[in-house]
Amino acid sequence: MDWGQPYKSDGALWSKKVANRFLLCCLLDYQIPSLQAWANGERLVISILGDPDDIWREITSVPEHEWKSKRGEYRLHRFPVAHDRLWRIGRRVCDAFEGDARRIWDGRDPVTTLEVLWGIGAGDQISRMIVGALRDCGQIKGLASDVKGDVYVRRVLGRALLGAPTDAETAVALARQLHPADPWLLDGPLWVVGQGFCKTIPKCPACELAAYCIHALASSAELPKGLSTG
Ligand code: SF4
Repeated sequence: MDWGQPYKSDGALWSKKVANRFLLCCLLDYQIPSLQAWANGERLVISILGDPDDIWREITSVPEHEWKSKRGEYRLHRFPVAHDRLWRIGRRVCDAFEGDARRIWDGRDPVTTLEVLWGIGAGDQISRMIVGALRDCGQIKGLASDVKGDVYVRRVLGRALLGAPTDAETAVALARQLHPADPWLLDGPLWVVGQGFCKTIPKCPACELAAYCIHALASSAELPKGLSTG
């Protein structure tokens, strides 16, 4: 999967600036649309803080209460905790990794990297996405990793295989069953289906999974002839 500029996927190792920016955007990527999360992260780094050499030291250069007071001004996320935790995680990155996100994953395999990310408080599903993205971009090597059990993956796998959206843990387990060799390879296609078709009200007639999807098949069977789900 292509993560766009400046997160090149040619295997060249990222600079500290790029790695820190990547981690920050990932940390905002939950419970709001992904594109908005990444745009907000880029806006914070580039426009608000002026693309500093060390984003985590910049963020934690003010006391935590002062960072929290910037929530309304910066408008990074709809949940206050998402804004607040950037300071706390930034503090951990400074203390344990010298302010350099690359030290979280350099020389580590996907499983160990996942554990380190959990340890700094990145959260279960975000950590899985970070590991998968790092593999996509050639920053870590490893044979397999899990999907991120976000709203898109929970909806698509839940509806397609169980008939209704499911929880993150079940979605991760379903992806493992579908593609045990490397569940992460399903993450991109599931995101595309989730973003484009499997919305709150799914657009089943336009979805390529409709012929195999329990939810779509059950919905069309319930409708009178001549009508379709939509
Ligand atoms: S067919 Fe409908 S319910 Fe099934 S995955 Fe596609 S959009 Fe979602």
